[in-house]
Amino acid sequence: MASETHLERIIPAREYTSLILHRGEILRVMDLEGKQVADLVALSTIDKDEKLSCIYSNLLNGTWKLTRGHTLYSNRARPMFSIVEDKVGLHYSGGGFCSEEINFLRFKVQSTRNCADNLALAFKSHGIQREDFNFDCCFNIFMNLTFQPDGTLKLQEPLSKPGDYIDLKSEMDSVIAISNCPQDRNPCNGFNPTPLQIKVFRSIS
Ligand SMILES: [Zn+2]
Repeated sequence: MASETHLERIIPAREYTSLILHRGEILRVMDLEGKQVADLVALSTIDKDEKLSCIYSNLLNGTWKLTRGHTLYSNRARPMFSIVEDKVGLHYSGGGFCSEEINFLRFKVQSTRNCADNLALAFKSHGIQREDFNFDCCFNIFMNLTFQPDGTLKLQEPLSKPGDYIDLKSEMDSVIAISNCPQDRNPCNGFNPTPLQIKVFRSIS
């Protein structure tokens, strides 16, 4: 498939980025070194009250294992992204991201780098405040947190290998924030946060 790249950016370990994605453009999130989670939150550019919804995405696809062929929906049940390629096939779509409060509760540590702060900083230049997004907006790309048959949740190291990626085709104009998850106290990022790469392109074939 021929394509034209509009943007190419490295997100260093523990850092964040934001971008505007237009309808028809494809966002590629690549795990450069493997076992690294990208927390992605998206809001409509037209109305920031319309945002990605993990709950609706799981419900409307009839599965929590969202991969190629599935659609990510907004909280108004409108398509926001189509997953058009996925080299890993395991992500967490239950919502949520690490935060100062969660890190203190889990690990009794304070002043940690975390996704909640990263996402808030990423959105700042777009005039989007912390209260404009919530846990349900977050799609945890490459995160290996799975629902077990007995009802428990099991957190393991991501299955992503160096160079693995997911492609999200935009179905509406949106503002996107991505936190390169800084968590190093559990297997979420293989105990070793590493860089991610993003690309935006449009198919020209
Ligand atoms: Zn995180």
